[in-house]
Amino acid sequence: MTETTEGGPAAATPTTRRELHGAPSAEARVTRLVIMGPQGAGKGTQAARLAELFSIPAISTGDIFRANIKGGTDLGKLAQEYSAKGELVPDEVTDQMVRSRLGEDDVKAGFLLDGYPRNAHQVEALDGILADLGWELDGVIELTAEREELLSRISKRAEIEGREDDTPEAIARRLDIYDEQTAPLTAAYSERGLLAKVDGIGDVSEVTERIVQALAAELG
Ligand code: ADP
Repeated sequence: MTETTEGGPAAATPTTRRELHGAPSAEARVTRLVIMGPQGAGKGTQAARLAELFSIPAISTGDIFRANIKGGTDLGKLAQEYSAKGELVPDEVTDQMVRSRLGEDDVKAGFLLDGYPRNAHQVEALDGILADLGWELDGVIELTAEREELLSRISKRAEIEGREDDTPEAIARRLDIYDEQTAPLTAAYSERGLLAKVDGIGDVSEVTERIVQALAAELG
């Protein structure tokens, strides 16, 4: 699991899809989404809430890797070598995993990708996967937060969840990779008119509300 949700997805905000889109005819538009943001920005928490709100699956590459590590699969063994150090799992492995997940039936209604793409290669790979499926992204959410806040949130999470990769070294490495490789990707999505940038600091439901508003404003 990534960050925990307060009260879980069931404790949803009062926001409805109709409030977001105004008209039911526009509903089908915002269903293929990516959420980006540094570790500790609350991606996992918000992904669960948005998935509930839009009735789409939240697909977290980190969660899939962790499930495989727990299950002792070959993929899990490989992923563990990298994730324990805070390094990215090799692209070809991750790309293939995402391609296969996006081919599943529940994704036809849409999806929210969390943790992918994470570098320039993965942006291209995702474009290719979606093109093969005849789809395009509808929006990319960027959750922002200051590093000080991120570090305090991650250290709290580390105490609660005891994730193997929440050691100070692995956390620092993941935040560096985010700054160097992932944060610059938002510029490309912004140029495509897909980016909804949202302040991740505040009450969980307040942040969800901001995301919903930003998606409607930026992409509407
Ligand atoms: P966090 O956001 O806290 O870094 P995640 O749960 O998203 O954690 O990912 C955990 C680990 O899984 C990463 O450190 C990395 O090793 C691996 N991983 C997740 N997503 C990707 C990806 N898109 N590409 C490569 N490795 C990934």
